[in-house]
Amino acid sequence: MDTSYSGIEMKESRDLSLMIPSVLEQLITIHASDAIYIMKADEQDQFTYLYVNNAALRSMNLERDDVLGKSILQVMGESSGRKIHDYYMEAKASKKNLRYRDVISDEFGVRTFETGITPIFNEETKENYMVAVARDVTREQKERDRLQTLEQRYRSIIEENLDAIVTLSKDGMMETANEAAEEIFDCEASALKGKHVLDLFPGEAISKVKQALNRSSKGTPTAVSLIQVETFKKRPVILQAKFVPIKLEGTVHGVYLIARDATNEIETDEKINYLHFHDKLTGLPNRQALKIRLAELTVKQKDDSHAILCLDLDNFKALNEALGYTTGDELLVKVSERLEGYSSLSNNLFRLTADEFIMIMENTSKEKIEKLASGVIRLFADPFIVRGQEYFISASIGISLFPQDGQDDDSLVNHAGHALQMAKRKGRSLFQFYNVEMNKSSSRKMMIENHLRRAIEFDELSLVYQPQVNLKNGEINSVEALLRWNNRKFGHVSPGEFIPVAEESGQILPIGSWVIDQACHQLFKWTNQGIRNTRIAINISPKQFAQENFDEIIMKSLEKYNVTPDLLEIEITESAMGNMSETLSMLKKLKEIGVKISVDDFGTGYSSLNYLRQFPIDILKIDQSFVKELRSEQKDAAITKTIIHLAHSLGLEVVAEGVEEQFQVRFLQKAHCQKGQGYFFSKPLPSGEMEKKLLSIG
Ligand code: C2E
Ligand code: MG
Ligand code: MG
Repeated sequence: MDTSYSGIEMKESRDLSLMIPSVLEQLITIHASDAIYIMKADEQDQFTYLYVNNAALRSMNLERDDVLGKSILQVMGESSGRKIHDYYMEAKASKKNLRYRDVISDEFGVRTFETGITPIFNEETKENYMVAVARDVTREQKERDRLQTLEQRYRSIIEENLDAIVTLSKDGMMETANEAAEEIFDCEASALKGKHVLDLFPGEAISKVKQALNRSSKGTPTAVSLIQVETFKKRPVILQAKFVPIKLEGTVHGVYLIARDATNEIETDEKINYLHFHDKLTGLPNRQALKIRLAELTVKQKDDSHAILCLDLDNFKALNEALGYTTGDELLVKVSERLEGYSSLSNNLFRLTADEFIMIMENTSKEKIEKLASGVIRLFADPFIVRGQEYFISASIGISLFPQDGQDDDSLVNHAGHALQMAKRKGRSLFQFYNVEMNKSSSRKMMIENHLRRAIEFDELSLVYQPQVNLKNGEINSVEALLRWNNRKFGHVSPGEFIPVAEESGQILPIGSWVIDQACHQLFKWTNQGIRNTRIAINISPKQFAQENFDEIIMKSLEKYNVTPDLLEIEITESAMGNMSETLSMLKKLKEIGVKISVDDFGTGYSSLNYLRQFPIDILKIDQSFVKELRSEQKDAAITKTIIHLAHSLGLEVVAEGVEEQFQVRFLQKAHCQKGQGYFFSKPLPSGEMEKKLLSIG
């Protein structure tokens, strides 16, 4: 019979009791995968190997002869041998089986062995034996370690979690709770144990919590939207809760309630929401809010008629640049407060950009709109007080109507904006309804801007001169230079139209420098022709005046044409004089050069008369709007007289603008106004005609 497959030699024997131990021994020697050792102890308790199987030899990497008959210390070396020896002694003394694990690091790597030791005492011979069975449990140990780490990790997920985690039985009884749960619910975990999870939630939330619990105990994780609960200490908390099934091998054994305290987040969300729809400076609803409001009106209330009023402060930009943004901001807050206080606006006021506000009137009529618009404009009659200083500002309003002027928010706001531009062009403190013609004007504005860019290059600009006449003797020793633009395409465009465009686009800087140069050139020519004492006044826009090197620009032109500085006069408006210290330092530099300085359109600006005393000014020019109404408006007559009086007391010269009638001349003469300028005396004239006039007088 072939027995070689097992490696066991079967000795033929009739005695079965002799045959079996031999087979068993061979089986153990060859096939047992555990290492098996049998040792005998001598009187000195030295254990020597009697038997080792092949697995033991393999694990020690030794031959049988290296082992049999040798002591453990000889075979295993001093330190491991001593350890094993101690275990054997312990087993021997206790007469009990002993089991231990040790880690061995050798040429096979790091391995864990579990060894079982059985002490055997032979009663007959009184000899001690020891059987040791060692099993390589490296793999099992690794798996055990892995599970242990996993469990620790999983435990820390629960214990350290910032969310409350409560384990529930499938029917919702609370079993354990982590620390976060104790904090959120203001109680010890033990207070939750044994209670039903529904007890944590208020009556109105019970049905949706129940539903979530049911679903999760059937295996589907379910979230519950925000619920306000009361803690054990009656503290209100907004919870974001989830029920998550605890599944072991596919079956649900319980449910986790995972809950997050969302109270702060909700508050933050509300804040973010607020900031998104409100303007930071004034707290008014902003463009986003307006968009939504208009969308509502044009969709939900589309059968009614609504009005969109776009309000913009006059000259605010120059004022802001001049006064500095902090004061500008404070002024805007004051304006928004005044508007808000106007009862009919309480809910329908929005701030679009810096000084642009939108008002909405729902379900309205033209009469009501006009009443509101003029009411709002009247709100600006009184000055605004910022840091103890009074500011007079006016506002203009453009109005578009739903549905006729636009069907959606964009076109309604745009058209109100066009109407606003028109109102501004017509003058200050006006309101204006949109009409279709205005669309054309906005594209005209763009074309003007484009053509203006090349106006100097194409030689389209020129200066005309308007005399300022001495009201006592009719002499002329000063003229105002006024800019004219004759464009190839548009023909004559009035400065009232193109100067604001040039200011907005920044082109006023090169154009302004051109004017300075041109005026100096004219002075040079006139001097050469014998016109020696006639001063030219030029208009300077706030942007130009704000240039740091403005004085140098003036100086260069004066030097270029060798002009006596006091033949040049610089007209600035009140809006260019906002920032006290900067204005003062520039005015001083100009004074040092020796040019004359006048304040144009005096009386229409925003500021107090305070600066007049401090600034080195030579001349005040009374705005034509006062002169125009001299006959009909007593108030204007009074203002004119006051300005003249004021100028005199400060030692300033006064020029009245826009003088058209004999009556006005007489009034001004009586009030001792030195000079008048206006159509009554002469329209602005081209240089040649002005020359003739000056030469004929001179
Ligand atoms: P402004 O400096 O107040 O100039 C006076 C304006 O009144 C001029 O208008 C002038 O033609 C006009 N005017 C003169 N007499 C009378 C009159 O009796 N009745 C009426 N109703 N008007 C009269 P213009 O030339 O259209 O200029 C308008 C504004 O454009 C000027 O007002 C000034 O602010 C600005 N401007 C003109 N030229 C320049 C310039 O070179 N640079 C700058 N930055 N602005 C300029
Ligand atoms: Mg002027
Ligand atoms: Mg003027």
